[in-house]
Amino acid sequence: MTASAPALTRVHGTLHALQVPIPYPMRTVTVLIDTGGPVTLIDAALDTPEARRAIEDGLTALGLHWPDVERVIITHHHPDHYGLAGVVEERSGAQVQMLDVEIGRGERYWHMWEEWLPGHIKHMRDHGLPNELLETLGAESRRTRARVNPASRVEPLREGQTVPLAGGEWEVLWLPGHADGHLGLWNEDESLLIAGDAILPRISPNIGLYAYTRPDPLGDYLQTLGKLEALNPARAVVGHHGPVMEGVQARARQLRAHHHERLDFIRAEAGREPRDAYQLSLAMFPRDLNTAGRRFALAETLAHAEHLRLLGQLARTWQGEAWVYHG
Ligand SMILES: [Zn+2]
Ligand SMILES: [Zn+2]
Repeated sequence: MTASAPALTRVHGTLHALQVPIPYPMRTVTVLIDTGGPVTLIDAALDTPEARRAIEDGLTALGLHWPDVERVIITHHHPDHYGLAGVVEERSGAQVQMLDVEIGRGERYWHMWEEWLPGHIKHMRDHGLPNELLETLGAESRRTRARVNPASRVEPLREGQTVPLAGGEWEVLWLPGHADGHLGLWNEDESLLIAGDAILPRISPNIGLYAYTRPDPLGDYLQTLGKLEALNPARAVVGHHGPVMEGVQARARQLRAHHHERLDFIRAEAGREPRDAYQLSLAMFPRDLNTAGRRFALAETLAHAEHLRLLGQLARTWQGEAWVYHG
């Protein structure tokens, strides 16, 4: 697949899914285009020339141009979903919308960059990330920041409200865990869910505890999985490895079992030998990872360790340089 031949899939009625290239291991992110009412994009990829071109080509294939876009709904503030929001806003005057909970997250990450970074670094250091992996964090974070063009103004959507899309009414869902204010859109008549990264085939969405996330992202995510299981959509449009997946209920059960296995592992490891979250992450992810991968592994391990601590199944103690988890 090349940017000049975008994979445009009709999902339902006037709703189309575009596979946009991103320079991450997932290779593409899904951007939805709806031409049924106010022309709407759902998610805005990353601000790279390839992604801009792919979206332009997708719009052209539907007989549209940037100025036609009236609304952009963002599932969550991560760079691969939010990157071009400011560009679309500027080129088309489109209204950018996110779940109310997520707006502040996007502002902190992308508008208040310099204030945010020291807390992020301290959080990683306090959980044992060694200096050689901390040193590159600032530069790498700045590189990501350069690929995000945040919106200047974001309108809130609220859980439970409905939005018109593809000729129908879609319910706004709050699906926290992968991001605090992750949004989903649910069309009951079609049993169709727009899921973003709340559930993915092939890979487990990263559930990480970072300096500014809600205190128990894994607890949030286990509840989200319960919500998805109960909803039991026939189809879901997903952020990566899609654009469409079936079997959401079975996948949600599988992901729950996966996280429970990891909880058992962390409980046993910390019980056997007290360690900080970075050391636990080396046990949980023993394979070779690059520096970004090691930080994801730390945040994911920490989400599990903190979930156990909040359940009273592990304790942590400050030991001079880092938090140490123990039984
Ligand atoms: Zn994400
Ligand atoms: Zn993503």
